[in-house]
Parts: sequence; C-alpha cells; structure tokens
Amino acid sequence: MAHWTPELLSPAGSLEKLKVSVLYGADAVYLGGQKFGLRQASDNFTYEELSEGVEFAHSRGSKVYVVLNSFLHDKDLEELPEFLGLLEELKVDAVIVSDLGVISTIQKHSHLVIHLSTQASCLNIESAKLWQKMGAQRIVLGREVTIKEAAKIKMATGLEIEMFVHGSMCMSYSGNCVISNYTQGRDSNRGGCAHSCRFEYSIDFKLESNESKKAYFMSSKDLEGIRMLPEFIEARIDSLKVEGRNKSHHYAGTISKVYSDALSFYKANGNFLSSDMLSWEEELRKVSHRDYTTGSLDQYAGADSIYNDREQDDNEFVVSGIVLEATVGQHLLVDVKSAFHPGDILEVMPFRGATQKLDVAFLQSLSGVALLKSKPGSIVKIPYIAGAEKFNIIRKRAQHA
Ligand code: SF4
Repeated sequence: MAHWTPELLSPAGSLEKLKVSVLYGADAVYLGGQKFGLRQASDNFTYEELSEGVEFAHSRGSKVYVVLNSFLHDKDLEELPEFLGLLEELKVDAVIVSDLGVISTIQKHSHLVIHLSTQASCLNIESAKLWQKMGAQRIVLGREVTIKEAAKIKMATGLEIEMFVHGSMCMSYSGNCVISNYTQGRDSNRGGCAHSCRFEYSIDFKLESNESKKAYFMSSKDLEGIRMLPEFIEARIDSLKVEGRNKSHHYAGTISKVYSDALSFYKANGNFLSSDMLSWEEELRKVSHRDYTTGSLDQYAGADSIYNDREQDDNEFVVSGIVLEATVGQHLLVDVKSAFHPGDILEVMPFRGATQKLDVAFLQSLSGVALLKSKPGSIVKIPYIAGAEKFNIIRKRAQHA
C-alpha cells in the first residue's frame, strides 16, 4: 500500500535548474518570469524558456508555479494582463501572489489558480478564510507558523497548505522588511532584497566600558525540516517548499534528491529509519549552508536561531560537471563546471539512491587526447560508472585553504 506524502516543491532559478530539480525528484517547481516576481538576481525565465520548462516538467509529471509576488504600483499593473494571457496559454499550474491588486487583476483577466505567497504573512485561521474568499486556493503560510498551527488552519478552512521545509530564512515577517531599502536603496518587496540582515552591525549598549558591540544580530540560521517530515505528514500539509531560486545547481539537485528520497521511502514503507535520516542529514551538509535550525516548525524561533558568524564559503563539495552522455561500459561525456585531474575521486549523484564514487582513471578531450586537467566550459571523457545518466551531477570534495 502506498502511503500519503506531501508534494515536494523545489526552486527553479533558471531553465537548467528547473530540469535539475525535476530530474532529482521535485513534484513541482516554482519560478519567476522577467517581471512581477521577488528575485531580481535570478536568471528569470524568458517566454521561450518558460514554454520549454513547462513542457519539460509536465512531460515528467511535475507542476509549474509562477511567482507574481511583488507589490505593484498602478503603472506595473497595466502590463500584467498580457503576461497572464501568456501563462494561461502555457498552462502553468498556478501563480503565487501577495498583492490584492494583482489577485483582482488575475481574476478579471484569467482563470489561473491562485496560491497566496508567504509575503502576505498569513499566520491565522481568520486571515486564511479571508484570503480564501478572495480566491486563494492554496496558502503559503508565513515561516513564523508552527506545523501544529498550520494543521488547525487547514482543518478550519479546507485550503491547500504549503510550508517551507528547507533553505535560507528571512528575519522579518516573510519579507515585510525595508532594511534593504534604507541601507542599499534596494526594495525588498519589489525583488531587490540585498540581505542586509546578514551584515555585521554594532549596537551601543552603554556598557561600562563604553564600547559598542559588533555582531550579526539579525542573521538567521538556515531552515532544515528533514526530521520534521513525520509531523508534516501527520498534519497533512499539502506542499513542502524548498527556498533558493538564487542558489546553485548543486543545491537544487541535492536538496530535491534528499527530500524526494525521504518522501519516497515513507510512501513505500510508512515510516522513516533513523539510519537513513542520518545519511540524509549528511547529504544536506554537503551543500553550502549556514548552521541549521528547525525555525518555527516546532516552536517559535528564538535567540538560538541566530547565525552569529560572518558569511563564508563553506561548500563541502563543488560541482565538477554535469553528465551529457553515458555510453554504457565505455565513458561519460561531461560538461565541466570546475577543474579536476586524472586520479581524482569524484562522486556521481544518481537521480535515485546512494551517490557513487568515480575514480578518474582517464581524462580525455572529445577527440581522445589525454588531458592533465579538465577546463571549466569544456567537454571531456571520463570512465563510465554503472547507473550514470544524462544530467547527473558529478561533484568533488572541496579543498579549502
Ligand atoms: S534584508 Fe533580510 S530580513 Fe529583510 S527582506 Fe531581506 S532577507 Fe528578509
């Protein structure tokens, strides 16, 4: 008997990352067009990319949600109906919205399914009921809500409920923040957040010594909800969202794979094994992250959720390349992302199951010339390893100074 599991919703910061997320197990992806979303830094999708992305995801049974969660001025709203027409034409599965003016425009000009964005900071039953009346079919709850509270909101409204399960956190009520506007001149509620909460600040505490204290008072640890999966399932939370449209292919692939493996295991067995939980946690530590916290999933986040350190590159692994072609028993053709050498031990991440070690016993150019080092941007041949497929990520342990 298959057991019920929530949808796994992964970020798609670009067309390539959409493919990576889908192939590594995302049931749905979310992405932004060229306008109206909150990630100006992502490689937002052109119409052609959106069309290819929707076709790619739908052909593999995954859904596509488009973010329209900026807070818009009247002038911006004028351009929205044309974009909505394109989204309907492409048959996207829903749009993610926070501004009432945008919701009203969507209802006037389309039949698109509306998901309320976390930016609207919906935290309670009465608020959820009102948004439901306004046309929201799903609520992406604010990160400040516990799973228990979310279960009550779902029971009381019958709405689809989406919650964040993994990724960076925002110290304000899900984006209702203007620190970035004042410190950097970048509007966080219109896609320009400069992550000013991650900076080092000093506060004059009027200490006896008269010294002010410098620290990272407002930087949050990252959310990791893998151990909370039983609670999410028991509460029947419909969708688990992974934050990170601006993050790397490695992040999109690894996080999608780990949570997808865990949910597939539960679907087949109706439980989680603690030994598997440990190995999934180990995998989650291989991508760039701050210290992890469960945020407010269990109880409201407190002082122990502050990340007191300077931002640093702590990648345990770096992506060496992406498999372009696997010729069984002979070689892999690899699109090189970072340099590696003959004799290196790499890791291949299959779409399902455990990662595999790959010994670079030979390294050749496309024409078969032996190489001493792979060059980023080039295509090389390395030994075949059983189970490797097109689009698999190949990575290598990072060597930090
Ligand atoms: S600066 Fe920090 S708290 Fe403010 S919106 Fe950006 S991530 Fe959130």
